[in-house]
Amino acid sequence: MKSLKRVAVFCGSSLGTDEQFTTDAKKLGIEMAKRGIGLVYGGGNKGIMGILAHAVYDNGGEVIGVLPEAMNVPQVTDNSAHTELRIVKDMHERKNTMYSLSDGFIALPGGIGTIEEITEIYTWRQFGYHDKNIALLNSNGFWNSFIAQMDNCVDLGFLSPEARNILKSSDVVDEILDLLAMEPEELPSKL
Ligand code: AMP
Repeated sequence: MKSLKRVAVFCGSSLGTDEQFTTDAKKLGIEMAKRGIGLVYGGGNKGIMGILAHAVYDNGGEVIGVLPEAMNVPQVTDNSAHTELRIVKDMHERKNTMYSLSDGFIALPGGIGTIEEITEIYTWRQFGYHDKNIALLNSNGFWNSFIAQMDNCVDLGFLSPEARNILKSSDVVDEILDLLAMEPEELPSKL
């Protein structure tokens, strides 16, 4: 088992339409605080991001928000919960900072920003830029269509079964954190 000091969580800056999304975000935050796993996140106060950050912070956990200068405005930071807020130059520095601070990655339900972040870190893993685990919290099947697309990529010869298998998923919060703590699997070189 790997020890998880901090985990980056990518998630919607909106709440979504299904209460299960916020219920699971709260559960995850509480469980991270309980296990002493710090949260690295996008730093904002809105949507599932805000719910998750408050759940970790309110339960005594570490929360590091990482915001590009242009997003350091009251609409984003008012009432946001963090033990540390890092202001960085731009989105690229933000993602690099979030990735390097974290021992693993989770995506909760979200929109295009969430999908971009989780697919980027998954792509980097495929190329061996890091060997940290990646998991989808599949609240009420939110990620089913994404998972089906990854399976489609395997079937059509664009993704190796090994690379597919490193993308973990579960709709159970405890299981997600256990999956992230597993020893990372070896991947054959894609080059
Ligand atoms: P989305 O899923 O499109 O709502 O985008 C969420 C992701 O994009 C988060 O993980 C953040 O890193 C970033 N993001 C999008 N909107 C905001 C916002 N209002 N404040 C802070 N980060 C944001």
